[in-house]
Amino acid sequence: MALCMKGILTSVSVIGRQIRTLNSTSSLKTKIWYSTAAKPAPQTSESPGPGPVAKKSYKFVIVGGGTGGLAAASFLSRKFGQGHVAVVEPAEHHFYQAMWTMVGGGIKTKEQSMRTMASVMPKKVDWKKDRAITFDPENNLITTESGTNLEYEYLVVAMGLQLNFHALKGLTEALAEDPMVCCNYSYDTVDKTYKALQNFKCGNAIFTFPNTPVKCAGAPQKVMYLTEDYFRKNGKRDQAEVMYITPQAVIFGPPKYAASLRKICEERDIKVHYKHTLVEIRHEKREADFQIEDGEILTFPYEMIHVPPPMGPPDVLKASPLVDETGFLTVNKTTCQHIKYPNIFGLGDCTDIPTSKTAAAVAAQTGTLKKTISSVMHGHKPQATICERLEYFCTPRNEPSVEIDQPEELS
Ligand SMILES: Cc1cc2nc3c(=O)[nH]c(=O)nc-3n(C[C@H](O)[C@H](O)[C@H](O)COP(=O)(O)OP(=O)(O)OC[C@H]3O[C@@H](n4cnc5c(N)ncnc54)[C@H](O)[C@@H]3O)c2cc1C
Repeated sequence: MALCMKGILTSVSVIGRQIRTLNSTSSLKTKIWYSTAAKPAPQTSESPGPGPVAKKSYKFVIVGGGTGGLAAASFLSRKFGQGHVAVVEPAEHHFYQAMWTMVGGGIKTKEQSMRTMASVMPKKVDWKKDRAITFDPENNLITTESGTNLEYEYLVVAMGLQLNFHALKGLTEALAEDPMVCCNYSYDTVDKTYKALQNFKCGNAIFTFPNTPVKCAGAPQKVMYLTEDYFRKNGKRDQAEVMYITPQAVIFGPPKYAASLRKICEERDIKVHYKHTLVEIRHEKREADFQIEDGEILTFPYEMIHVPPPMGPPDVLKASPLVDETGFLTVNKTTCQHIKYPNIFGLGDCTDIPTSKTAAAVAAQTGTLKKTISSVMHGHKPQATICERLEYFCTPRNEPSVEIDQPEELS
């Protein structure tokens, strides 16, 4: 328990504000498409398109060069060789995001999580350092920011989740101006976390969870356990009230993990507040407002606060014909094939596959994607291969009940 007065929890009530609703990402899709590509684009070399727009055709275009996009690029370029696979990815650098938890805990530096995109891009891939801005699935085309039309026979969409820092009132300013507001979810902010631990003196150490879909739903808690451990080892634990404040009704989805985590929180005297949604940070006063079920606002003072931002599907994807009302790419959850366009496939965080949004889930989906693409290219019905029991799916090697499709060559 915190022994300093500064850390004592105070609350202020404001009546009548609404709780934001959680976007559902788990709508089940059962329709299976298994014909070959509806309108295969001819294999042509670069050709001027209509007007000033350049056009180039590929057998495969992959949008996104993160965990999923690079995994797909790797097996497809090995199979089809130079000139047949393009990856559209605007970023100069690739990040091993899972390492950011350890950066926040002072175990790694953020530079260790970064590689140049050129160094991780498979050699036989044409890397288009550009951003996809429109999808035209009826004509097998995507358009990029630089004005290029890319025509494909098959499209893989792996655009990840978009971080919406601006969607939480006060967060952008607080991250820019308050050293005790931190966030492991971005390369730009991840190094604030360990500094906040080191500078922590006395008061509430608050760890929050967003009221949106989230990548690595465990990461908002992992940083808390590392912090609590740091406080104990550095003589600060008695000055800290460590709190996990979440809009959810449970500490973690799968019950077997939830039971263990509840026990750990109890043993370590971590206070857990359920059904509290963070709605505003006022860093000038070091206060955070949380909305509870009846619309009431509770204000918690903080000495430090870790805030994963609201997240959602990329705006470009949301505006495309490839999504449903949730904005996520609608794919068959057991084959990764788009539910409407049989020559389009999805991988990773931007899809509505109801696994956790983790790199570990991407690893499982990649095996499925290989089988599905192979089936579709041979005119066969793709087999359902993603295990429907996947819940968290972060540490598959330690989880004997979960089946993973091992990487294999595309047949
Ligand atoms: C702090 C943290 C901790 C994590 N811990 C773990 C963990 O312990 N275990 C685990 O398995 N996972 C973990 N993850 C989650 C994991 O990193 C993601 O689930 C995984 O990277 C998802 O892969 P993806 O390909 O779907 O998206 P990403 O890897 O995010 O890649 C998406 C790519 O798409 C690109 N893109 C976006 N828009 C466009 C566009 N318009 N045109 C072209 N390209 C575009 C982006 O630049 C990006 O490179 C963690 C993540 C974070 C942030």
